[in-house]
Amino acid sequence: MAFVELKAPPPPGNPVSEAVADLTAIAKGLGLTLRYFFTKPVTLQYPEERPSLPARHRGRHELERHENGLEKCVGCELCALACPAKAIFVQGAENPPEAPISIGERYAETYVVNMIRCIFCGFCVEACPTEALQLKRVFELADYSRESMIFTKEMLLAPRPKREREDSWLPG
Ligand code: SF4
Ligand code: SF4
Repeated sequence: MAFVELKAPPPPGNPVSEAVADLTAIAKGLGLTLRYFFTKPVTLQYPEERPSLPARHRGRHELERHENGLEKCVGCELCALACPAKAIFVQGAENPPEAPISIGERYAETYVVNMIRCIFCGFCVEACPTEALQLKRVFELADYSRESMIFTKEMLLAPRPKREREDSWLPG
């Protein structure tokens, strides 16, 4: 039968040096607290305080227009093909010759972005041959339902230029 040898507890240290070590630790902690107490906080009182976003912030998509109000998107679907998250659905259609919607033969009849899937990588913007797609500085996208995170073409399309709106022959 094996016996476990019991060791005696270590002798008590010098109480003065222990007290000095404790006080040093407390002083270090208080010093750190005081240092951060007088520095500018990194948190914001959102939504009253607004963050200053970097110039290249990637937020919500927008489908751009030309100066004359015509849509830049030609429904080529390259953005949907480039998307690693399969967040974009595009269905192109022939432009009606009497009232074209975009410059070119085709336009995006349906354009949908599923914001739940989007990882804001920007590949769709890079893939677009007509610079129709931009990731804007809109970041407040939180909502309560999955359905509200499906952004349709009507939601994504940029407003018409002001001058073009005033004397427009285009509907809307
Ligand atoms: S930003 Fe990236 S993930 Fe989002 S839709 Fe574009 S390609 Fe897809
Ligand atoms: S946004 Fe650009 S890449 Fe996507 S369908 Fe329109 S033109 Fe093509």
